[in-house]
Amino acid sequence: MTDSQRAIATAAIHAGQEPDPTTGAVVVPLFQTSTFKQDGVGGRRNGYEYSRSGNPTRDAFDTQLAAVEGGKHALSFSSGLAAIDVLLRSTLTPGDSVLLGNDVYGGTYRLMHQVFAPWGITVDVIDITDQAAVTEALDRGNSSNGKPYTYIWVETPSNPLLRITDIAFTAAAAHAHGTKVVVDNTFASPALQHPLDEGADLVAYSTTKYIGGHSDTVGGAVVTNDDEAYEQLAFLQNAAGAVPGPFDSWLAIRGLKTLDVRVQRHSANALAVARYLEENPNIERVYYPGLESDEDHDIAARQMHGGFGGVVSAQLKAGEQAAKDFVGATQLFTLAESLGGVESLIEHPAAMTHSSVAGTALAVPSNLVRLSVGIENVDDLIADLDQAFAKVK
Ligand SMILES: *Cc1c(COP(=O)(O)O)cnc(C)c1O
Repeated sequence: MTDSQRAIATAAIHAGQEPDPTTGAVVVPLFQTSTFKQDGVGGRRNGYEYSRSGNPTRDAFDTQLAAVEGGKHALSFSSGLAAIDVLLRSTLTPGDSVLLGNDVYGGTYRLMHQVFAPWGITVDVIDITDQAAVTEALDRGNSSNGKPYTYIWVETPSNPLLRITDIAFTAAAAHAHGTKVVVDNTFASPALQHPLDEGADLVAYSTTKYIGGHSDTVGGAVVTNDDEAYEQLAFLQNAAGAVPGPFDSWLAIRGLKTLDVRVQRHSANALAVARYLEENPNIERVYYPGLESDEDHDIAARQMHGGFGGVVSAQLKAGEQAAKDFVGATQLFTLAESLGGVESLIEHPAAMTHSSVAGTALAVPSNLVRLSVGIENVDDLIADLDQAFAKVK
């Protein structure tokens, strides 16, 4: 265990989690209230006035997440996409541009392409793992007016092909052009990867996934050391109001406390499942950066600490229909979108999570299945995949 990992495990349990000063409650209370009594006009207790502007349960999560990430500021939102929306909307103006990887979360692409592009933001899509293509795009700038990109948007590992982008390389190249780097760190989680340490300017999360960790809440967050960006985001968070409710924040706190141990098990189970799939005669190709055979293994091994995450994708030799039948034939792996919960899930990206990007640069192979490997007993998980293969053959 490295020092930084030990610090994460401790920060996750203690940062922002002081026992309640009134009662001594060891767990931060659920402040399920919309408003706060003022001691005379303007006499706010600890600054609290109204729960859109600030709530103690939400603040406890923000403090905890910032500490786990090793960042100065964290702001949480009602979903990952709400976090991404506020990040973009608070800092971009018409004529600005974003350089986007061609393997990003489909909802991120949809938001940029269908909501921001009509408002005058240029969204250029490239293979962000191709360093020559990144350098060339940064040298050229915004494809519609040649100005430097405001952001380069990195997802690593990406979804669903688990490609790895070298954050340190990307940050150095981007900063030379005055371009900021956003890393959507949802897949790695702060247990495995620290983009700010690698030079990223902002880190975005869907806390719905590993941070919440139990498939029982939807949320998002942004973490940054950039004071100016933080002020801009905080302003729009309050002005537009996509805040998480107190109970969602309370669940996110509880999830984040056990992130470190959960992600260790997710990673170990996923590696075992990836190795099993790699040997399986029904499989054409496995995507998992923890496999020595993976094209991105070396960068992942350097950039990620203590594991490679819980998501594995694979293409079935028998094609699209077999892939659809397979995801319907498992018993422990539940057929569902999302990922990062304790229970294993399986899905068909082309028809499910990535259907909104069909026919675009982000389209995914039709014989691909994506597994979010949970923390069950790994022999049981592999036995489940075995029986599912037997049914589709
Ligand atoms: C799920 C996800 C999002 C969107 O988050 P929501 O909480 O569903 O709004 C963004 N990025 C990645 C990588 C995701 O997996």
